[in-house]
Amino acid sequence: MEPPKNSKCPLCKKPSVFEYRPFCSKRCADVDLAHWLRGDYTIEGDEEKQEGDNTKEE
Ligand SMILES: [Zn+2]
Repeated sequence: MEPPKNSKCPLCKKPSVFEYRPFCSKRCADVDLAHWLRGDYTIEGDEEKQEGDNTKEE
């Protein structure tokens, strides 16, 4: 599967560069990684666990 050709950097919305996709540069990739390492991002559903599976609605 190929990613969309015109994907944009999730941080600054510039066109992403193949080498650093989905980011536009190593800088943005590093920034994003730093956020992850610091725990700035909360994984959805991780904080409040509900019983039962989150079944996909079709
Ligand atoms: Zn960027």
